[in-house]
Amino acid sequence: MDNPTPKTLRGRHFFANPGPTNIPDSILRAIDRPTLDFNDPDFMPIYRDVFAGIKRVVGTKHHLFMYTGSGHAAWEATLTNLLSPGETILVVESGYFSEEWGKMAAAHGVEVQTVAADWRHGVEMPRIREALEADRGHVIKAVCVVHNETATGLMIPPAEVRAAIDAAKHPALFLVDTISSLASLEFRMDDWGIDAVVGGSQKGLMNPTGMSFTAVSDKGFAAHKKAKLGRYYFDWSVMLTRKPHESFVGTVPINAFYGLREAVRLLEEEGMDGVVARHHRLAEGVRRAIAVWAGNNGPQLFCTNPARVSDSVTAVWMPEGHDADALRRTARTRYNVSLGGGLGKLSGHVFRIGHMGDLNEPMVLGTLAAIEMALRVNGVPHGKGGVEAAMAYFAG
Ligand code: PLP
Repeated sequence: MDNPTPKTLRGRHFFANPGPTNIPDSILRAIDRPTLDFNDPDFMPIYRDVFAGIKRVVGTKHHLFMYTGSGHAAWEATLTNLLSPGETILVVESGYFSEEWGKMAAAHGVEVQTVAADWRHGVEMPRIREALEADRGHVIKAVCVVHNETATGLMIPPAEVRAAIDAAKHPALFLVDTISSLASLEFRMDDWGIDAVVGGSQKGLMNPTGMSFTAVSDKGFAAHKKAKLGRYYFDWSVMLTRKPHESFVGTVPINAFYGLREAVRLLEEEGMDGVVARHHRLAEGVRRAIAVWAGNNGPQLFCTNPARVSDSVTAVWMPEGHDADALRRTARTRYNVSLGGGLGKLSGHVFRIGHMGDLNEPMVLGTLAAIEMALRVNGVPHGKGGVEAAMAYFAG
């Protein structure tokens, strides 16, 4: 991606990355306000609205801690608040982000066991159950799952993982990364028996990057009281001493709260069911286009398991000998469309279409049309008529 976007490109920059995502104008307007003392009484109702709103979006009545930091901060906060040095976690492999979360845990002196899985197909639930049943001494303290693997466009159903943990009668905590699923895919923390949920501001919540959080069950909070990994800025108990906010050991990011409050308002105006249905519809349109392109030995859906395809991001596997980054470069420099690249070992082999957040059918069609043109420009074999298939689906 060496060459910069030509300065002469006009029109709106089409942003089709799987996070950060498009920020709605009303959120930009909400953030664009003079600052306030975070101890000002006028700020507290906004602060409380956001906490209550995020809890509704996550589907929990329990604890919520927020941090100024991206998703990695919330990963780190969650691990350090729940674990002690030398303890073991079970990471369910899904792709780049499950690997990264495991690496972070290892860097903190946590033992990491992995339930291996094919990145294109996703984990088989019996493998999780077997790994937990084999752990007779209950050494494993937490099972970590990325609900929506942004790198591969693969979704792992948390309710099924919960069922596997229960079937094994294992007491491990259940930790879920919802960074690219929250406010896009159905998510119900309490109903699904999740102990800690990690989320971020820059995807389904349609805000700038830089805010993240952990929602914690009572069981999770009890585990926190015994957990001994080093932490201070992220320490939930320290946070609770910081009255009146009970989160944020340092300065509270006022303007981020304006933006998040507007996000919750937008989501609830549409209705969470409507949000989920819209994401499904847009994702399905994208998949219809790719199904057509896949003809003639063209690009294919990376996820080969129809039950696990993600409704917020689609990874597309390029045909042998064709560079995904060259295609992305054409999309960006010629059509002003930004696509996600392949991460880790998928770099150059995969491009990713983000379809989460503030998005509608014409935006998706514009992106698909730019990709179809870039396929032609780059001489990538493909079936013709992908955009037409998406249009037919959207019009149906
Ligand atoms: N987890 C998932 C599923 C992600 O998609 C990302 C980022 O894209 C992260 C974790 C890391 O979050 P951040 O980049 O905000 O630190």
